[in-house]
Amino acid sequence: MTKKRTALVTGSTSGIGKAIAERFAKDGADVILSGFGDAGEIEADRAALEKTAGVKVGYSGADLTDADAIAGMMDMARADFGGVDILVNNAGIQHVSPIEDFPVGKWDLIIALNLTAAFHTIRLAMPHMKAKGWGRIINTASAHALVASPYKSAYVAAKHGIAGLTKTVGLEGAEHGVRCNAICPGYVFTPLVEGQIADTAKSRGMTEEDVKRDVLLAAQPTKEFVTAEQVAAMAAFLISPDGDQINGTMMQIDGGWVAH
Ligand code: NAD
Repeated sequence: MTKKRTALVTGSTSGIGKAIAERFAKDGADVILSGFGDAGEIEADRAALEKTAGVKVGYSGADLTDADAIAGMMDMARADFGGVDILVNNAGIQHVSPIEDFPVGKWDLIIALNLTAAFHTIRLAMPHMKAKGWGRIINTASAHALVASPYKSAYVAAKHGIAGLTKTVGLEGAEHGVRCNAICPGYVFTPLVEGQIADTAKSRGMTEEDVKRDVLLAAQPTKEFVTAEQVAAMAAFLISPDGDQINGTMMQIDGGWVAH
């Protein structure tokens, strides 16, 4: 990274977001972590990253299903870091259930976090990016932004929505030096997927081992999980000068899943 940039990575206390934040910090960006978890562990991780990477690392515990909390996080980014140059909308949750039993509250929560939160962070980050004539927005979408699976109505709807948002923002930012792309991973072994294995086993009456082999990796032709570090490497490429002309895309990293 040639210039000093600030990256806000939502949902970076765990899984894919954590790997992206660590990669960006190691590549020289100041980083703002976000997400939930044990306060002591988060502070230990934050301090360790700041020390090992030699960059400034902040943290926001904002609940991203709440528009006011998002505004507060973006205010903090402006006050403490001078604004967000690289925005990664990554925080996300899943719920697996047949649509007729899908809890209404879960639908609302998934749409709020997996889709609406990205609208808020982008609308609040865009003025700074346009003023600077440079900005990079990466939305962690999913193979489920491109294809569906049963029992994941809210997640698939939100991720397809993120695909549309990504293309729209890519067009709006194009002449202002702002790029917006989505990364579409297949299955990455993170706490989110661990939870899904248990839920899917319950809803389909299967063992967890059978779910891993016959449901998750059945869709993924390589029969291997993607690693969080591989997703982070794709994000690092997108913010590098080599990624300058990549805009409005859905970048798959799914072992061939969407090729079916
Ligand atoms: P994870 O559960 O490991 O991490 C989710 C992060 O989001 C955590 O930091 C958590 O604290 C944060 N979070 C949850 N609710 C929040 C809220 N209300 N406000 C703020 N932060 C909140 O999940 P992951 O597997 O790393 O997933 C990250 C993203 O990648 C998600 O958008 C997910 O849909 C997407 N994705 C994951 C996979 C996979 O296989 N793991 C595949 C494709 C896409």
